Amino acid sequence: MKLDFKNKRVSILGAGRSGLASAEAVMSRGGIVLVSDSGPAKGKDTIAALSKTGAKSEFGGHSEAVFNCDLMIVSPGVPSNSPVITRARSKGIEVWPEIELAYRLCQGKIIGITGSNGKTTTTALIGEILKNAGIKSFVCGNIGFPFVAVADQVPSDGYAVVELSSFQLELIDRFRADISILLNITPDHLDRHGDMESYIEAKFRIFENQSEGDLAVVNYDDSILRKRCHGLKSKKIWFSVEAEDISGVRAVPGGGIFINDTEIMKSDEVRIKGIHNLSNACAALSAASGAGIDGRIIATTLESFAGVEHRLEFARLIGGVSFINDSKGTNVDSVYWALKAVSAPVILIAGGRDKAGDFTFLNELVSGKVKSVILIGEAAPKIMSVWQELTSCEEAVDMEEAVRMAYERSISGDTVLLSPGCASFDMFDNFEHRGRVFKEAVSKLPDRSKQSGKRVTQ
Ligand code: ADP
Repeated sequence: MKLDFKNKRVSILGAGRSGLASAEAVMSRGGIVLVSDSGPAKGKDTIAALSKTGAKSEFGGHSEAVFNCDLMIVSPGVPSNSPVITRARSKGIEVWPEIELAYRLCQGKIIGITGSNGKTTTTALIGEILKNAGIKSFVCGNIGFPFVAVADQVPSDGYAVVELSSFQLELIDRFRADISILLNITPDHLDRHGDMESYIEAKFRIFENQSEGDLAVVNYDDSILRKRCHGLKSKKIWFSVEAEDISGVRAVPGGGIFINDTEIMKSDEVRIKGIHNLSNACAALSAASGAGIDGRIIATTLESFAGVEHRLEFARLIGGVSFINDSKGTNVDSVYWALKAVSAPVILIAGGRDKAGDFTFLNELVSGKVKSVILIGEAAPKIMSVWQELTSCEEAVDMEEAVRMAYERSISGDTVLLSPGCASFDMFDNFEHRGRVFKEAVSKLPDRSKQSGKRVTQ
């Protein structure tokens, strides 16, 4: 799409990857850019990349110069209610999220994926299906690669598969996906959105600019979505792993996966495990078949797709104990699904920075499946107070100790699951760092079967 910024002043909030890519896109179209970051100056690489674009930059806060612009572009990490945005709007400045800029640069089709949980898995899976179908596609957005960095490379017969956060959706203007997927809505990021209603509204904006020719892929099993999806302009495709009588895509756990009444494959043939992943697979299947992709290509991809790192990722089998890394399980709901997916008895490693999570929601599963909980991080006392009546709960000083304790308390046949239910930032750089530290600690565990007669058990 032709987008001209000739002599337009554009302020870009955030000097991360999407801020840099936005700066490049605007500068190369004749704009005059100021990149403004409230955090401290970034490393050498960022500074070098910034000066290569020719954009001006400032760090450690937003100066008055940030309002001297025709357009403000906001990186995904900047809250939509932050004072700098409110002020820009009150001055009549147009504010776009990065995905709005990318949308206006993109000539190809867009599949947008949002929801509280399962976005990255579903996005990666759809990208894999499109690749196997020989369709040129770019997997981007919140998954770690900015949409704006690839937007103008998507050919008109190709796809951008974009993972979308509610924070970005909140600020869209004309952004429209040809296929919009809403996976589920559970309380998450309430710390940032304030209340559930505004969180739901932000997610629903994914459908706002769609018209009759577009598709809305929606989870029938989510009661909020079932109730609130009636007025959509786009054509709806429901998916479900519970309902027996919907038209759309439906999987029967232990049975078949159907598009309307046609069986595509067996649920057990889907390689990523757990009911939640079956639900993600149904969402991907709905979108891919909506895009006209052959059912056989979709089925073979579902059989081979191994999932994404840090999401129920198998780490090691040692002494008959399976270690699973679900470091991306950063909220209570994802711990619920992770616990449902793995086999008991479970030793659960949880904790971190609390996101106002209601851990009592997991009480039944913890009583039934978890023989021991090892807690880390700031939330340890809170979680301990909820679960200590239900099962053995102990605190570890760090991940290495947590892994060691979990191993000591395990016997052959157990599963050690890291699914923290919390953010990682109290102890780690991010959830990837936490997952790597877990896997590293697991890789160092001694194989008990090789230690003659020195078995440590509790
Ligand atoms: P997101 O990108 O939305 O955070 P991911 O695909 O990265 O989602 O998965 C994050 C975690 O959420 C996983 O480790 C898993 O425990 C959980 N999860 C994945 N898919 C679902 C789903 N459909 N429903 C509930 N929880 C899920």
